[in-house]
Amino acid sequence: MPDLKSWNLWHGRRKYSEGCENCYMYYLDAVRSVPARSSEIRRTGDFSKPLKRDRHGMFKIPAGYCLRINMTSDTFLEEADEWRNEMWQIIRRRPDVRFYILTKRVPRIAECLPADWGSGYENVELNITCENQRAFDERWPIFEAIPAKHKGMNLAPLLGAIDIKPALQSGQIESVCLGGEGIGGRRPCHYEWVRQISQDCMHFSVNFTFNATGAVFVKDGKRYLIDGQVLQAKQAYLSGLSCFFSSPTYKLYHPVDGHLLSEDELMHPVYNAERCITCSSLETCIGCVDCGSCTNVSLVSMNDIKQMRKDKGLVRQG
Ligand code: SF4
Ligand code: SF4
Repeated sequence: MPDLKSWNLWHGRRKYSEGCENCYMYYLDAVRSVPARSSEIRRTGDFSKPLKRDRHGMFKIPAGYCLRINMTSDTFLEEADEWRNEMWQIIRRRPDVRFYILTKRVPRIAECLPADWGSGYENVELNITCENQRAFDERWPIFEAIPAKHKGMNLAPLLGAIDIKPALQSGQIESVCLGGEGIGGRRPCHYEWVRQISQDCMHFSVNFTFNATGAVFVKDGKRYLIDGQVLQAKQAYLSGLSCFFSSPTYKLYHPVDGHLLSEDELMHPVYNAERCITCSSLETCIGCVDCGSCTNVSLVSMNDIKQMRKDKGLVRQG
């Protein structure tokens, strides 16, 4: 099935820090018997994905959509230096689409931004991953100095307690996502670590998504083994630790005449009644694109999902 939520221009990663030890991409490559080595960085055939059109001449990726870039690699790898300008050119040609970039290689961001970056592109969200306090202390001060219209943090796989208050109080961070280790490895994630980060995000009114417990979740000294991504996501939702304040505002522009797009001109997300109903990412997600991962897809609106949550008593703890 085509991956409709990601735009992977290059594939392959060199391990960088503690969080990479059981990299999910290495694991998935092995499961799928990908012939090339996972540590080999190679250009994919997906470069033109945002520019592809359907038989009516319309872009296949609609206005308002969010594409996650290089989720099987790292956008700022040295090996990709010769390809990155082409990526920025395509991003500039789709000012109506949001692009999400996630990296651990924070020291490389500044030198890899395009010449006209200025205070950032309206349609690009820069995110950094921090898996523990050491990574946060090293990466946040560098990230703080980088201009961007949208910034976020991803704490996954969370390997210990982290005090992220310096980032939250800077006012720069729009959203924080957190997950335990669930694919490729089983290092435990502790409820108390997540609760502290949740409380800190609430204090600073920053959106916080606890999107997966990981395979081993420890609460009150007891270890819970939670197998499968769907169950890990459901348990994270039911913990009630996520908090949502408001959606960041993206100024998106028509790719031809340049006018500022109104809400009516953006795609209207739909959700999978079977799965999205217990997903913590609902409020910040572009919705179900029927990617083929779920066997039972019935698409409904956000309001329908909220009503279904009430009807089924799927009220979160906390
Ligand atoms: S809301 Fe639905 S489509 Fe979005 S991440 Fe959750 S399960 Fe996936
Ligand atoms: S809800 Fe299921 S089918 Fe829809 S995008 Fe998510 S994984 Fe794919």
